[in-house]
Amino acid sequence: MKYFVLFGPPGAGKGTQAGAMIERYNLCHLSTGELLRSEIAAGTPLGLQAKALIEAGSLVPDEVVVGMIESKFKSVKNVKGFLLDGFPRTIAQAEALDAMLSKNGESVTGCISLMIPDDLIHERIAHRANIEGRADDARPEVVANRVKTYHDKTEPLIDFYKKANRYHEIDGVGLIEEVRDRIFKKLDLL
Ligand code: AMP
Repeated sequence: MKYFVLFGPPGAGKGTQAGAMIERYNLCHLSTGELLRSEIAAGTPLGLQAKALIEAGSLVPDEVVVGMIESKFKSVKNVKGFLLDGFPRTIAQAEALDAMLSKNGESVTGCISLMIPDDLIHERIAHRANIEGRADDARPEVVANRVKTYHDKTEPLIDFYKKANRYHEIDGVGLIEEVRDRIFKKLDLL
């Protein structure tokens, strides 16, 4: 099994690029943000717990997302691997992922990091707010908190995966197809 981490700040294009990636490499797309949004839509206790945090632009507790990922690893069959989108987002989550995989003698195959400058983050999220209608995209103070949370808690993962020799940075600026082809060129080798 291959385990790819799709990494990047909010608005980098992770969700946009994931579709083409899962098709080409027969992967299961696991987006913790999407899983949490379906829990909210279904009104589950987990969804209720996550809603206020997501709407404030804060992270939900590590154990919540780690539990969601672990149960998907167990239940999803017939794929060549997993594309983790928006997970891990903290060092503790990355360590929990490593621990989960190493139980079965496996490890993260690669961290594909989509990089865009901060000013483009705001532009892309403002554009997405009009299309997808996500509450956490619509309020500038929430977006600002998500960007701050990314820099404070998630960005340290770059060093984490660099040290593990798993870090592959892709320039996320450009047309969707251009960025996709840069990703394919890299993933074809992994
Ligand atoms: P996303 O769809 O990846 O932008 O995630 C939307 C929101 O869900 C984030 O701003 C967080 O509040 C929450 N979330 C998603 N993934 C995680 C994660 N791995 N750890 C903690 N919170 C998460």
